[in-house]
Formats: sequence, structure tokens, C-alpha cells
Amino acid sequence: MDQAGFDCRTCGACCATSADWPRFSLEPDEQLDRIPEALVKADLSGMRCEGDRCLALSGTIGEAAACTIYALRPEVCRECQPGDPECDLARATHGMAPLSEAEIASGRS
Ligand code: SF4
Ligand code: SF4
Repeated sequence: MDQAGFDCRTCGACCATSADWPRFSLEPDEQLDRIPEALVKADLSGMRCEGDRCLALSGTIGEAAACTIYALRPEVCRECQPGDPECDLARATHGMAPLSEAEIASGRS
């Protein structure tokens, strides 16, 4: 989930598509240490999920959603950009069409 371009706060699909997706990779320890323990998997490999939904996601997918740890979100979450293949797949999983070029371009940052 990124908020450059299209306003991801009307979507949130990529945060609720796979429990294996929000994994930690290159994040510095200081960043990971600040994520509430309750939101981190027991094996410390990534964000804790309920089903396929990251527990840090608030709101309703496709309506109004937000990452409650936005400033601390993992790298993979920063890399997912509106309109990229992961975005298209996540949106399809939730029954939403891929973003059009116009939607990608017209969002607010
Ligand atoms: S699926 Fe795409 S549009 Fe939806 S929150 Fe993720 S990056 Fe944004
Ligand atoms: S940490 Fe935030 S941006 Fe990443 S999957 Fe969870 S809710 Fe989405």
C-alpha cells in the first residue's frame, strides 16, 4: 500500500490478499522495533495477519482503508504501487477492476 498517485485509502486490497505478503526484508532494526508486538508474527518474519488480512489495516477494503503503522510499514508495502502487477492482482482478489491510467494519474499524493 502506497499513497503516491492513486489514493490507496479508497482501496487497501494489497494489505489483505496474502498472509505471506507483508514480510520483513531490509528494514532497519530500529524501524521493526517500533512496530507494536501484537502486529508482528510470532516468528518475527513479517506482519501478523488474520486470514489474508494484515492486522495493521484498518477500515473497509474498497471503501476507506488505512495502514495504522504507515510510517513504519515494511519495504514490500512501500514498493507496491498503484497500477503495478501486484496491485492489479490484489484488486482482482477483492473483485475490483485494475486501475485505469486516468485513476493512477489523478490520485492525490
Ligand atoms: S492494491 Fe493498489 S490501489 Fe489498492 S491499496 Fe494496494 S497499491 Fe493501492
Ligand atoms: S503494514 Fe500497513 S501497508 Fe503493509 S500490509 Fe499491513 S496495513 Fe498494509
